[in-house]
Amino acid sequence: MCSPRLMDQVYGRISRRSVFKGMGAVAVAAVAAPATAQTANAAPGPGGSIVDLTHVITPDFPVWPGARQFEMRPIAQIGTGSSSLGSLDLAPTSVFYKNELRLDEHTGTHVDAPAHASPDGITVEQIPPSDLIAPVAVVDISVRAQDDPDTVLTRQDILDWESDHGHLPDRCLVALYSGWDTRVALPGAFANQDRAGVQHTPGFDPDAVDFLVRERDIVGLGTDTSSIDAGRSTNYGAHLAALGAGKYAVEILANLAHLPPSGATVMVGAPTHAGGSGGPCRTLAWF
Ligand SMILES: [Zn+2]
Repeated sequence: MCSPRLMDQVYGRISRRSVFKGMGAVAVAAVAAPATAQTANAAPGPGGSIVDLTHVITPDFPVWPGARQFEMRPIAQIGTGSSSLGSLDLAPTSVFYKNELRLDEHTGTHVDAPAHASPDGITVEQIPPSDLIAPVAVVDISVRAQDDPDTVLTRQDILDWESDHGHLPDRCLVALYSGWDTRVALPGAFANQDRAGVQHTPGFDPDAVDFLVRERDIVGLGTDTSSIDAGRSTNYGAHLAALGAGKYAVEILANLAHLPPSGATVMVGAPTHAGGSGGPCRTLAWF
């Protein structure tokens, strides 16, 4: 059973948020009492929920300022004979539909492999599968973020989470929930740049990341913003501390509001292109 306080937080967070434009499908199963087990669960229990933490990528999905927008070009259309690939060209009409993609690896909901910020770090295909399924701790700084887009998740926020929910589970993923995911459909609001081009978005305080990698047992970090570092950061201390310690990050998560602070399990569907610095990843959670 879960505590009344936990249920208040679960239902309170869901009821505050009802519109999620442009995001992946949200849980459809009835909300059940979240599991209290502090380990990854293989699947949701009876009556449990599955939450899609993945945004839908479109050509106008916000990207890091200056990065290439996502592009998708059809290279075979059923029945048109317009395929440009090999033997399909010879067919009077194509039997298949398919596309060619062009994108920055760090587009949409995506993983940062340690190699993204660490010369000795592993690349994306090398992230161990055992690190990609983990209990997820959701640390909610959304109230602060409404008033202060530069707010950061601090060591004290983690200690406060632990006083409410117990010690962080071993091998967990710590996810920053700021409410930023609702901004992807608002032009300019996701990067939230000022006139000088500086982004004002929440992130992890590098000191908090240092604490997590040294004094807790995490597999990685997550955030609903475009970076685990605050947008105004110029030294990328959160990236260097996390990726430098061999942890991965999942950025631009959706729907964290639908997870309980404790008790959910996450699966990060990291891509496997050899030598990659990261890439879009279907990310699901259940509880
Ligand atoms: Zn990234």
